[in-house]
Amino acid sequence: MGITIHGVLERNARKYPEKEAFITATNRLTYVQMNRTCNQIARLLQEKGVKQGDRIAIMARNNENFFFAYFSLMKLGAIPMPMNIRLTPSELVVMLQNSNAAGAFYEAEAHGTVQTISDLYGLTHQLSIQEIVEASSVYSGENMNLPIHSSDVSEILFTSGTTGIPKGVVFNHDRMIALATTVSIEFALSNEDKMLTLMPLTHSAPINTFFLSGLYCGAAHVIGEFTPKNFLQLIHDEKPTFSFAAPVAYLLSSKDPELDTYDLSSIRVFAYGGGPLALASYERVKEAFKNENFYQVYGLTEAGPNGILLRPHEHLTKAGSIGKNPTVSMELRVVRADGSDVHPNEYGEVLLTGDSLMLEYDQNPEETNATIKNGWIHTGDIAYRDEDGYIYIVDRKKDVIISGGINIYPREIEEVLAKHPKVLESCVIGVPNEEWGETVKAVIVAKEDVTEGDLRDFVSPFLADYKRPRQYAFVMELPRNASGKILKQHVKTM
Ligand code: ATP
Repeated sequence: MGITIHGVLERNARKYPEKEAFITATNRLTYVQMNRTCNQIARLLQEKGVKQGDRIAIMARNNENFFFAYFSLMKLGAIPMPMNIRLTPSELVVMLQNSNAAGAFYEAEAHGTVQTISDLYGLTHQLSIQEIVEASSVYSGENMNLPIHSSDVSEILFTSGTTGIPKGVVFNHDRMIALATTVSIEFALSNEDKMLTLMPLTHSAPINTFFLSGLYCGAAHVIGEFTPKNFLQLIHDEKPTFSFAAPVAYLLSSKDPELDTYDLSSIRVFAYGGGPLALASYERVKEAFKNENFYQVYGLTEAGPNGILLRPHEHLTKAGSIGKNPTVSMELRVVRADGSDVHPNEYGEVLLTGDSLMLEYDQNPEETNATIKNGWIHTGDIAYRDEDGYIYIVDRKKDVIISGGINIYPREIEEVLAKHPKVLESCVIGVPNEEWGETVKAVIVAKEDVTEGDLRDFVSPFLADYKRPRQYAFVMELPRNASGKILKQHVKTM
C-alpha cells in the first residue's frame, strides 16, 4: 500500500520536527504544529459526524486555514473540494449540487456566502474553520491512523471554468503522489527548497503540482495572496527558491516601478503556465527580473496537472514552445482526427497519458468517456511539432475562429499584438458576421495611448489579410478567472 497525502504530512512531522514549513501572512508553523492541529480538528469533525467519503467544500483564502481544513478532512477519509471563495453563491451552488456536497468548511469571510448557499441547497455540515480550530485544541494531537488507503479518493478539484462551468475532477492518493514524485524529479526539489505559492490553492496547479511536490520533499512553503507588491516583497524577505505563477502575474510584477529595489536572486525556478505567455512578454519579464530561470509548464487539471515543460536553456532557441519531452511519468502525442500522429508543422490535438491522470469527472461518465479514450486524455488543445520535435500550442479547439470556412487561431494574432510596445495584452475573439460567419476582433489593454490605426498598420506585415482584426476595442483590463485565465466568453459580451 502506498503512502497517502496526509501520511506525507505525518512523515514530515517526524522527519523535520523543527522546520518552519507553513509561512503565511499571519502565522509561521512547523510540520509538527500543522500535523497536530489537523489531528485535533479531525477528531472534532469525527465527533460532529463527518465521515469517510463525505464531500466537503473548502472555502478559504491562501493561508493556514486552507491546510487545516485540507489535511484534517483527508485524515478522516472525507473528500476535500477546494472552491474559490470569490465565486458567487449561485455559481457555488451549482458546483456543490453537481458534486453532492455534504458540507462546507469555511473561513469567517465566507460566512454570508455559506448561509446563502445553505438556504438554496441545504448543507448537512456548516463548519467554520476558525471556530473548529479553537474548539479542537482540547483534543488529542496524536495521529489517528484510520484505515485510509492510497487507492481511496483523496480530493475533488475543479477545472478553471475557462470554457464553461468548472468540472469536478476526482483523484486518489496514488495519482497525487505520482504527480508529486514527478515534479520533484523534474525540478530536483529537496527539503532545502522553499516554495512560493500566491496563486489560488483552489486551482489544480498551485495545490497539486507545486504545493504537493514541495510537501513530498519536505520543503517549506510561503503562502499568500497575489499582488505584484506582495510577490516581490515576499521573494525579497523570505528568499524562496521556487515560484509558480500564471503568466499575467509575472507580467504585472515586472511593471512595478520599484522593481529594482527588490532582490529576486533566491529564485532558482520561475515556473509559469496554465496559459500562454506571449514571446514578447516573456522577453520583457526575463529582462525585468534579471533572472533567466524560467520554466514553462503545460498540463491540465484532468492530467494532474502534469504534462511537459520547457527548461531555461531551451528558452534560448525554443521560447514559445511547451517543450519536447513530456515529464518522466507522462506520454504525449499530437494526433490527427483519425488518431494518427501528425507530421512536423501539421496541426493536431494534444493527447496525454501517464501516472497522474484523474480517475474520472465527478458523477459524469459521459464526459469522462468523451475525454479519456483508450487511456489517453483528449486535451482539446491544438498544437504542432516543429522539425526538432518541439511542440507549440496553437489554441484551444473551442477558441478557434472560423471565418469564411477558414480556421483562424486567436493566439497567433495575440502574439503579434504583444510585440507592439504600447500593448500590455490583448484578447482576440470571433464576432458573428453575416457574410463570413465570424470575423476577428481584438480587445486591447494598452500601456500607453495607442490608436486603432497604429495597430492596423503594425499587424499588417505579420498577418495575412483574413487574420487581421476587423474591429478593435480598448479596455482597462480583461476579465479573468481566479487562476488568472482570460474568460473569452465574457470578453465576447463586453
Ligand atoms: P475548463 O476546463 O473549466 O474550461 P481550463 O481548461 O482552463 O478550464 P485547467 O485545467 O486549469 O482548466 O487548464 C488547462 C488548459 O489550460 C489546457 O488545456 C490549455 O488549454 C491551457 N494551458 C495550460 N498550460 C498552458 C501553457 N503552458 N501554455 C498554453 N496553454 C496552457
